[in-house]
Amino acid sequence: MDTLEINWVELRERARQSATKSYAPYSRVTVGAAALTSHGTVVEGCNIENASYGLTLCAECSLLGDLARCGGGELVAVAVVAGDGAPLAPCGRCRQLLFEHGGAKLLIDSGEGAEPKRLDQLLPDAFGPDDLDTRSNA
Ligand SMILES: [Zn+2]
Repeated sequence: MDTLEINWVELRERARQSATKSYAPYSRVTVGAAALTSHGTVVEGCNIENASYGLTLCAECSLLGDLARCGGGELVAVAVVAGDGAPLAPCGRCRQLLFEHGGAKLLIDSGEGAEPKRLDQLLPDAFGPDDLDTRSNA
C-alpha cells in the first residue's frame, strides 16, 4: 500500500467530474468523490439527494458502492470536492463509512497546497470492526 503513488491532482479532477453526475435538485450543491484503492484503481461517487432529505446519499456513499462494484479493496486516499472543485471534508457519517473501508491511515485530501489529513485526525478513537471482535459477549 505504501508503494502506491497518490496523484491528488487526478483524484481531485475525477471527483470534480463525478460531481457533474450528481443529483442535487434540492440543495443544488453537487459533490463528487474519488478514491485510490489498494489495488491501484480509482473509484468514484457523487451525491444523490432525495425528496425526503434524510435519505440523501453523500458522494462517499456512492463511492463505496463503486468500490464494491469494482472488486473491493481498501481505500488509500480520498478526495471530495464540490462542483466548483473546492475541497469538502466528509461529514461525520461518511467519516465512519470511510473508516470501515480505509481505516485510520486513510488519507483525506485537504486541497491543493495543504497536507492531506489521516482519517484518525478527523475521526479520533473510531469505533470499527475490531471493536466487534473484542467486545462481543458471545
Ligand atoms: Zn456524508
